[in-house]
Amino acid sequence: MEIDEAREVRTTCPYCGVGCGVLAKVAADGQVTVRGDPDHPANFGRLCSKGSALAETIDLDGRLLHPEIHGRRTDWDEALDLVASTFSRTVAEHGPDAVAFYVSGQLLTEDYYLANKLMKGFVGSANIDTNSRLCMASSVAGHRRAFGSDTVPGTYDDLELAELIVLVGSNLAWCHPVLYQRIAAAREKRPEMKIVLVDPRRTMTADIADMHLAIAPDGDDALFTGLLAWLGRHNALDRAYITAHTTGFGQALFAASALDLAGVAAATGLGEDELVRFYSLFAATAKTVTVYSQGVNQSSSGTDKVNAIINCHLATGRIGKPGAGPFSVTGQPNAMGGREVGGMANMLAAHMEIENPVHRDRVRRFWNASAVAEKPGLKAVEMFQAVADGRIKALWIMATNPVDSMPDADAVETAIKSCPFVVVSDVLARTDTVRHAHVRLPAAAWGEKDGTVTNSERRISRQRSFLTAPGEARPDWWIIAEVARRMGFGEAFAHETPAEIFGEHAALSGFENDGARDFDIGFYAGVDAESYASLEPFQWPAPRPGGGATGRQPVRFFADGNFYTPDGKARFIAIRATTETRTSPDFPLILNTGRIRDHWHTMTRTGKSPRLSQHIAEPFVEIHPVDARQHGIGDADIVCISSPRGDVLVRALITPRQRQGSVFAPMHWTDQFAAKGRLDALTTPLTDPVSGQPALKHVAARIERFAAKAFGFAVMREKPGLVDTSYWAIAKCRGGWRVELAFADDTTDWTAFAGSLFDAPLAEMLAYHDGDAGQHRIAAFDGNQLSGALFIAPGPVAVSRGWAAQQLEEIHASQRERFRIVAGRAGAERPDAGATVCSCFNVGVNQIVAAVAAGCTTVEAIGNALKAGTNCGSCRSEIRAIIEANRVQAAE
Ligand code: SF4
Repeated sequence: MEIDEAREVRTTCPYCGVGCGVLAKVAADGQVTVRGDPDHPANFGRLCSKGSALAETIDLDGRLLHPEIHGRRTDWDEALDLVASTFSRTVAEHGPDAVAFYVSGQLLTEDYYLANKLMKGFVGSANIDTNSRLCMASSVAGHRRAFGSDTVPGTYDDLELAELIVLVGSNLAWCHPVLYQRIAAAREKRPEMKIVLVDPRRTMTADIADMHLAIAPDGDDALFTGLLAWLGRHNALDRAYITAHTTGFGQALFAASALDLAGVAAATGLGEDELVRFYSLFAATAKTVTVYSQGVNQSSSGTDKVNAIINCHLATGRIGKPGAGPFSVTGQPNAMGGREVGGMANMLAAHMEIENPVHRDRVRRFWNASAVAEKPGLKAVEMFQAVADGRIKALWIMATNPVDSMPDADAVETAIKSCPFVVVSDVLARTDTVRHAHVRLPAAAWGEKDGTVTNSERRISRQRSFLTAPGEARPDWWIIAEVARRMGFGEAFAHETPAEIFGEHAALSGFENDGARDFDIGFYAGVDAESYASLEPFQWPAPRPGGGATGRQPVRFFADGNFYTPDGKARFIAIRATTETRTSPDFPLILNTGRIRDHWHTMTRTGKSPRLSQHIAEPFVEIHPVDARQHGIGDADIVCISSPRGDVLVRALITPRQRQGSVFAPMHWTDQFAAKGRLDALTTPLTDPVSGQPALKHVAARIERFAAKAFGFAVMREKPGLVDTSYWAIAKCRGGWRVELAFADDTTDWTAFAGSLFDAPLAEMLAYHDGDAGQHRIAAFDGNQLSGALFIAPGPVAVSRGWAAQQLEEIHASQRERFRIVAGRAGAERPDAGATVCSCFNVGVNQIVAAVAAGCTTVEAIGNALKAGTNCGSCRSEIRAIIEANRVQAAE
């Protein structure tokens, strides 16, 4: 494709914490194209499948375009006045803690900064928390306990310099794909680099691992306390570093020694030989980076796990050095920016501490604030409990969907429904949360708003607008400032541009900061509009010239062995590994929740992309074959997963990659995409006692086969309205929509059902019924075009999904072609490609298997033959797995 460089806008991907640079271009006809920014230091031009498909997610379908009060369209003035007056009145009548903001790692730093300033500096409460609480709060707490500050010492370069990378609870291949690709590329250059994956599941990340430790759920603290004890026993400590730069080592080692090797093996479910191999490798490899994410953080002992990892790095002096250190990678695009502005209920702005009176006074003077919060506010789970019991009477939710993403989601939905006043700022008119808002405020979306985000390696990058906001949509910072002004705080919220907000945020970070605080971007204090417009990605700290030793040079935190504790020493944390049994005879399995490759959070954006929706098109549960057999569940059955909190219906995927005794299901599906797929209806409000982060990866559950009387699959041009059946899951495809179906009851009139799905009253129907065999196929044609096709069978429907969806885009002039659809078969000249593996080039599993059989036994050879894996590369690990599974056959 020819790209006009001059008209491309440099921006940043809005999905994961890798923070890839994106070049977006709008053609004269309004067509948007995106590609990776070759000059961005996070990705050097790479994008994963989600980033590559960004242009497919920016249409106006479903957008909230105007402010609404109780579903009635109104203007901004009325909506903002109502929000401001209701919040002011609630504070006046019930005190500042009767109101709350629930915000998001999707907000830009400038939005986040103003929301935090309003709540903590002028409302006088710290009741502002963020969905980042669900993502990495345990890392924040662990950093603060060990370092005295929330400092991420690692950088992406370290991953390429390391000799050993330990990935803990991190499916990098799917959740941080560009980092995975960077590691895979480094490993290709230096095959001696070793990679260990610690994960209960054999995820796609295992593809590049030398060792996969299929650890028991929540066994990580035992694994790393066991490692500390082992390092102690085997004289593998850096005693000089421990003495010079740390405190608390003796207690930490004593606590860690509570378990001997056999005890660690029992607690982790790993063999002693596996443990010794891992421990020996760690001990012998100075350049070790331990990468961890939600598998560590989303736990009732998440903070202890983080500190167990950090302890091992402190004990070996492997921190603050190139290619060595603990490294928390964040889930969201601006989780780090939220931390910087104090978007969490227990932090103040600019990494200052809310409990510290000196910090509070400093922030009060800087903001000239009328009411600085005196104590930490309610963390996410506590916040919605306070909404439920009536302590919070006015709630403003910004850029997030807690009805789907919070644990115990049904209870959260009930709480929101009961709240006297709920405001939601969102880009969409219809989400599971927006439907309960009294006031809906249309927010500008990615591509329409300006600001900054911070990625996992502390790199601040600009998100730039390249589209005009539609309707009356406005940036979040503008909405917050307008409400603040109407609440009487106009002087402090007089900002007219995001540049002004960023300049103030930067100034606060450098205010009275003589190097005692890690977060300092004082270099950009009061940045002017022009400099902000052209701001290049940079890593913090970036103190003002002369305001610190470093100026604008890259800084390696902790290189000098100094930390942000009062005595300058890092703190070991004494951790006793605990094992907790949550299962019971009624709920004998452990449910692990997470993400998939091609969807993001609650699918409000990725669900718009046909390309992203075809990789995995319905909610599913991974079950080990033994567990599946015990529960009488076959592949592709519909399964009811239940917990004491609720139940969902999902498709069974039986795989030995899953650990026996545990099941895995993704968290993306909502009421907008499935009949009963909201996974967080099952999770519990159990949290880590230090960080308040919910234990989303360890939920007691049971599985049962859903006794479907019939299964179905349908494609259709128009999105169906109400789908009247027990199980349905809808996904976008190129020519329209595809729906998976299962029926608990006997339905006799399948033609009428098809008519209700297709919304094509004038269509010509072609049908085949074999009542005895339970087979029914109905196709509806509008002229030469297919309006919809429905396939019903007594078991999971064996029709190629890709082929069926493709028929929506083709012309069906002859009766023979139409009957072929009713037959549910492609002609012999068009073999079934199988389930999509490569979304970029629409390559299916059957095509890859055929290529392997023809002698393509490397990912590169598959790429040459089919192009699969040659664009974003997100599917390369799956291709490799398919090759491995079929290689023997190919060699025979
Ligand atoms: Fe976006 Fe993918 Fe990069 Fe994450 S890895 S920032 S989702 S392109």
